[in-house]
Amino acid sequence: MMGDAEKTQLEEMLMCPVCQDIFRDPRQLPCGHSMCMGCLESLMDHSSDIPFRCPDCRTFFGQIMGWCCSVCGS
Ligand SMILES: [Zn+2]
Ligand SMILES: [Zn+2]
Repeated sequence: MMGDAEKTQLEEMLMCPVCQDIFRDPRQLPCGHSMCMGCLESLMDHSSDIPFRCPDCRTFFGQIMGWCCSVCGS
């Protein structure tokens, strides 16, 4: 029983808040939350004129592009 609970917690930790699925190529945000690289890119597309916002804690990241480049290393 405890094993099941732990597994559920682990799955929640590995679950993307955007697509509600297991992370694929996860990227961590400055706030500590994570999401798939694909989900991050789609969010950035939708918010091209407004600050990017974490879907989990709703923290705004106005300089998300610079952050992305530092993470991607490109
Ligand atoms: Zn996702
Ligand atoms: Zn967050």
